[in-house]
Amino acid sequence: MRRLFLILAMAAAITSCSTTRKAESAEAIVQHDVNYSDYFTDKTMRYDFHHAGNSVNEFYYFDKLIREGEWAGSLISLINPFDYGEQHFRIIDAASGNVIYKNNYCTLFNEWQTTPEAAVTARAFPESVIFPEPKNDFIIEFYARNKQSKVWEKKESHKISVNDYNIYPGHSSYENIEIHIGGDIAHSLDIVLLPDGFTATEREKFVAACKMWSDALFSYAPFTQNKHRINVRAVWAPSQESGISKPGTGEWKNTLLGSRFFTFNSERYQMTEEFQKVRDVAAAAPYESIFILTNTDKYGGGGIYNFYGLGSAGKTGRTGEVYVHEFGHSLMGLGDEYIEIGNTVSALYPEGVEPWEANLTRFVDFNGKWEKMIAEDTPVPTPRIEGSTEKEWKIGAYEGGGYLEKGVFRGWPECMMKALTDFCPVCQDAITRYLDYICK
Ligand SMILES: [Zn+2]
Repeated sequence: MRRLFLILAMAAAITSCSTTRKAESAEAIVQHDVNYSDYFTDKTMRYDFHHAGNSVNEFYYFDKLIREGEWAGSLISLINPFDYGEQHFRIIDAASGNVIYKNNYCTLFNEWQTTPEAAVTARAFPESVIFPEPKNDFIIEFYARNKQSKVWEKKESHKISVNDYNIYPGHSSYENIEIHIGGDIAHSLDIVLLPDGFTATEREKFVAACKMWSDALFSYAPFTQNKHRINVRAVWAPSQESGISKPGTGEWKNTLLGSRFFTFNSERYQMTEEFQKVRDVAAAAPYESIFILTNTDKYGGGGIYNFYGLGSAGKTGRTGEVYVHEFGHSLMGLGDEYIEIGNTVSALYPEGVEPWEANLTRFVDFNGKWEKMIAEDTPVPTPRIEGSTEKEWKIGAYEGGGYLEKGVFRGWPECMMKALTDFCPVCQDAITRYLDYICK
């Protein structure tokens, strides 16, 4: 749970691993050489569904399929090798049984499952995934991590005929604005910025906020060095009313994407639960990563891996840093490296289970993270020497991270994911490797 730099002391309703539907464990993906043009058209397919359940159960209810615009992802990187996120889905060619596409993500539903409400109420959240449009009949499978062991379990499987006349055509008439074009679509990370709470007369304000977002991103390494393979586009889509809903103080606004503060009763947690509306607007541009800019001066936002990021576009102070921090969550699921004083137990980072985030470890499975970046003479765990300057810091394993004071370790004393400073060397390395994959 990739929330804004905010303290969300959610009563950690520890979730159980039992489910009423028997879950199958995930089989390892057999890597086949997937030649893109053998299996896919150059378009995007979108699968909408409802993710429903409570703190212990989850179900997937199909809604609709939509054919959208140009596929903005890589034509080579089709099986996400990073084991990030709480969810993943696979596209399987029905004739051969081969996995031809796989991607990982997290959702707001995953976070809601840890709230007190989920212990006593069942809810459904609209969700949606996108993938290159298959040429032939296919099966989509959804997997979720077991809440305790974090092992993948198959939750749903759905066979689709590509000739089904119920597949909707895409239609998006919103204006697409280029903010920064670094490279061609297939070999770049394509980011789309969406407005919420801007009325028809506030277009220029939104465009200025998008330029500020883009400038903020490129002012931080390693994004600075990767400007040539990152594209930032905006979609202009006005709302009926100006501003953003604040339910806790009785203020409601009729906005296009339904963003609101007080998500899960946390005042500064500003998100939208209407993810399919977000996709409807995003479809006006080729995109892989979504960030929503809201028209408010109130501090708040959030970022969820491969779902979306959100930040206030008004004068909240440190706006640029907050955008980039949230983008670290939404792009590749970087974990928060800060602690909450006095916090000793977390349902998010249970003892004995390695966090899937690239920048946090519990030493259960440190291999493959930043272990190789630590010099032999650096002690692990690494003590932080009081009064030391950044020039004296070494890559190590510093205790504290993932909201916990003890038991979770980070690689550097300070970071964008901790205190809104520069990204630490561990995060920079992880981001660069992720960009290498996306831009292949
Ligand atoms: Zn970091």
